[in-house]
Amino acid sequence: MELLDSLVIGAGQGGLSASHHLGRLDIPHVVLDANPAPGGAWQHRWDSLTMDDVHGVADLPGEPAPPRSHERANEVVPAYFAAYERRHGLPVARPVRVESVTAGTGEDDGLLVVQASERTWRTRTLVNATGTWDRPFVPRYPGQELFRGWQLHTHSYPGPARFVGKRVIVVGGGASAVQFIGELAPITDVLWVTRRPPVWVDHFDGEAGYQAVEKVHERVLAGLPPESVVSVTGLHLRPQEQEAKRLGAYERRRPMFASVEADGVRWADGSFEPVDVILWATGFRPSITHLAGLGLRSRHGGIQLVPTPGSGQTPTAAAADPRVQLVGYGPSASTIGANRAGRAAALAVRRHLRAAAAPR
Ligand code: FAD
Repeated sequence: MELLDSLVIGAGQGGLSASHHLGRLDIPHVVLDANPAPGGAWQHRWDSLTMDDVHGVADLPGEPAPPRSHERANEVVPAYFAAYERRHGLPVARPVRVESVTAGTGEDDGLLVVQASERTWRTRTLVNATGTWDRPFVPRYPGQELFRGWQLHTHSYPGPARFVGKRVIVVGGGASAVQFIGELAPITDVLWVTRRPPVWVDHFDGEAGYQAVEKVHERVLAGLPPESVVSVTGLHLRPQEQEAKRLGAYERRRPMFASVEADGVRWADGSFEPVDVILWATGFRPSITHLAGLGLRSRHGGIQLVPTPGSGQTPTAAAADPRVQLVGYGPSASTIGANRAGRAAALAVRRHLRAAAAPR
């Protein structure tokens, strides 16, 4: 079994950035990616999401990201990643889904053992950059399993055509819900429900974005479960949502229902709404179940991260095991954050390898 200095899991923005910087530091590594093709989560975004619709895709190290356009994000970004992997000769192996990472024992003592279905790798350090797309989050409501209609999550949104003639309830207060309503309200009957009143902004507010990232930063330093950084930056309506607005779709919002029944949803006050579809635009959680065996979680339920001296302010090192770096987790769960964290992680890996090799 080959022994690596480092192994990166995931070839999204975070994994590619980490691999690029590990390469620049001459640290031998491989990148294992579960997807069949380059593009990270971007290859799975819904077809109607264009480059004009996304908040913005940050540059991978040294190469400008594709500009805004009417082209599909699920084609443009994967093509950009594919070209980047090729040009930089990044050592990506796919499709390889890592099932577990454990602490080595016996002759592997001190190493991390990475297991995929048919192969095992041993590595001195690990950079985990597995994003959130593979772990859609659907909250539990009483009666959900009794619903006879169609329930789906953002993860499998197929575009608007399949919803024609159906009464749809969109659940969630984030940008995805706003975009879905913009597409669906002009063609079918839509009701929006959110737990909290939405926060509308005229334009993306850089200061609010910074504050949101800072808040999540504090949470991971304390070992608390992170919150989404892309969901708390305020909502605004783009030109393609004006028709839904004119139809009143954003004003007809109701608070969260209390339960689900066979043909609809019911609120605590007893009122009932018949619906054919429940579209859960309720976000994602970090895809980190394969790390469970490392015992990284703090008693507060999240993975506590610490900044590594000499690698900037971005915390990437797991407090419970500094051999493990998390990129795209918590405050770095955005393209710009993942990019920076990739660099910080590579520097932390070098520091760890040097410390481990130093004579005692
Ligand atoms: P990903 O792009 O998700 O890549 C992770 C990779 O890891 C995937 O290829 C996956 O297959 C692989 N993987 C997962 N588990 C395993 C495993 N066990 N073994 C092997 N491989 C594995 N951010 C922005 O900055 N701007 C935006 O406009 C924006 N829009 C968004 C829209 C939506 C709907 C969502 C959900 C997120 C959005 N984000 C946006 C957040 C952003 O997409 C991510 O934070 C960012 O792309 C970070 O990428 P990543 O490398 O962490 O993850």
